[in-house]
Amino acid sequence: MRDVITTRSAGIGRRQPSPLLQVLNLSKYYPAEKGKRVVAVDNVSLAIDRGEVLGLVGESGCGKSTLGRSILRLIEPSHGTIFYQGYDITSRSKQQLKSLRKNAQIIFQDPFGALNPQHRVGNIIGEPLRVHALGSRKEQASRVLELLEWVDLPADAISCYCHEFSGGQRQRIAIARALASNPEFLVCDEAVSALDVSIQSQILNLLMDLRQRLDLSMLFISHDLSVIRHISDRVAVMYLGRIVETATTEKLMENPLHPYTRALISAIPHPLSSFTSRIVLDGEMPDPADPPTGCHFHTRCHERDRSVEIQCIGSIPELRHHSPGSDVACHLRFQQKP
Ligand code: SF4
Repeated sequence: MRDVITTRSAGIGRRQPSPLLQVLNLSKYYPAEKGKRVVAVDNVSLAIDRGEVLGLVGESGCGKSTLGRSILRLIEPSHGTIFYQGYDITSRSKQQLKSLRKNAQIIFQDPFGALNPQHRVGNIIGEPLRVHALGSRKEQASRVLELLEWVDLPADAISCYCHEFSGGQRQRIAIARALASNPEFLVCDEAVSALDVSIQSQILNLLMDLRQRLDLSMLFISHDLSVIRHISDRVAVMYLGRIVETATTEKLMENPLHPYTRALISAIPHPLSSFTSRIVLDGEMPDPADPPTGCHFHTRCHERDRSVEIQCIGSIPELRHHSPGSDVACHLRFQQKP
């Protein structure tokens, strides 16, 4: 069956040499009351190499799920360009996106909501094979058994319904279905957030094993940095629709540069984080329909001082290269020394 499902090309149009995924200046707006608009994703650029896992972390409502879904064109972006395998997929038609759907899949937070309760597990896992006409019926049946084995579920699960399984087992079914068409890229959108802590680590270990076995690339979205750090090669930190810091996981955990990242890491218990006391942020995340001027984080920033006050309130800091492996959007980190 593997040779039936080996094509991982999404190729239509002119190809450019590039990372597996490249996003340039992506934004997503929604209309709001009184002629305002909610900027859910604000001018985001990022790249993911082949075989790489990029963690995307931020508080609930910061726009990370909207970004993940916009990248896969499950939500139409308002602005920006998405390159996948070097091809511009931003304006492809639904028909042209079919090969992308085969190559790039998503795993959601709520496995039960994502799985049809009226279908048997074998039918659910085999659906992408039928949709993309991958293999004969016999080959599809043996592929479903292979996928069940990969996610550590028994072969007789094939004839059961989803309600007969626990939350962790349902997420295994969702992972098996996501892998059915042999994708090379997964968006995991809070894929372990709804699970108990012990089950979370089982599913994380499964995803890490599958990543190695299948040479997968991932955008791993979570509000929980202690989860992200386990699985990610690099981390992007998001606040109110914007990426405020990116770094290799090691650098981010050892030397976070953005005050928001520092607050997130300080919430991880010592000694797993380099902070001995927690930085508690004031207030809630601002309304994305009415974001603060300048740096969107300035209303909660514990490091803002008089030396950068005017800049912080007056101008949005761009994400800039700071040091090898680290980019940050903070005026304080680029302050000229007197
Ligand atoms: Fe804080 Fe200013 Fe940096 Fe924003 S730019 S994070 S307000 S120091």
